[in-house]
Amino acid sequence: MSTGKLSVIGIGPGATEQLTEAARAALEEAELLYGYGPYLARLTLAAHQRAVPSDNRVEAQRARHALDAAVDGHRVVMVSGGDPGVFAMAAAVCEQIEAGPESYRQVELAVVPGITAMLAAAAACGAPLGHDFCCLSLSDNLKPWELIERRLAAAAGCGLAMAFYNPISSSRPWQLGRAFELLREYLPSQTPVIFARAVTRPDQRIRIAQLADAQSDWADMATMVIVGSPATRVVERDGQPALVYTPRYA
Ligand code: SAH
Repeated sequence: MSTGKLSVIGIGPGATEQLTEAARAALEEAELLYGYGPYLARLTLAAHQRAVPSDNRVEAQRARHALDAAVDGHRVVMVSGGDPGVFAMAAAVCEQIEAGPESYRQVELAVVPGITAMLAAAAACGAPLGHDFCCLSLSDNLKPWELIERRLAAAAGCGLAMAFYNPISSSRPWQLGRAFELLREYLPSQTPVIFARAVTRPDQRIRIAQLADAQSDWADMATMVIVGSPATRVVERDGQPALVYTPRYA
């Protein structure tokens, strides 16, 4: 049987209109769809398509199963939320291609970008990432917490705005609070902090605070936290939500 194809796609932050045409085309040609259960649950499948949901934290195994199916000649789609290259499945698939059998390298691979949560969250409140910024995952499941602290200090110390993915979870309850403590040593107390939850979904909620007051329990697993740079500004508007932006000259 000839080798099939694996497309690693991003379905955007939530709302279906945020799905790109290219991702939709990849979905339409799929026979088998792999991914974290809740992401697959967002899709409507045709009769000939089969979803193979898996738990989170089993990314390596999920990547191997999808590659095995592609080696067997199937047209396979791996589904990530947001963008597949941002703290998601594209890197997990590349890891398995590098470590796995020669047959994995023969698979036709396409990575189809998507709108990542950070961009949707920024757009929902103005342009907080309008100038130099970085993004970090606050999860210390796969890397040591000390490294995260070093990166936070470096980013705050050189004036980058920051977007935090995976800010908190039941198994990582203290890390976001510790990150705020550390940032208070480097940044002005009035630095804007945005908590953008479930962006583009019906339960979207945006909260804007100052670093001095920011509380980690305002975030959950569906929240993107954006910490401004010292140049980031909040523009209050009568009858309209406040705007947060980082000017282009900052
Ligand atoms: N690949 C995804 C990110 C996966 S990491 C992307 O590009 O968006 C999962 C984290 O993304 C969550 O913990 C949360 O911080 C963030 N996230 C994903 N969707 C979100 C949404 N709709 N609103 C806010 N944050 C979101």
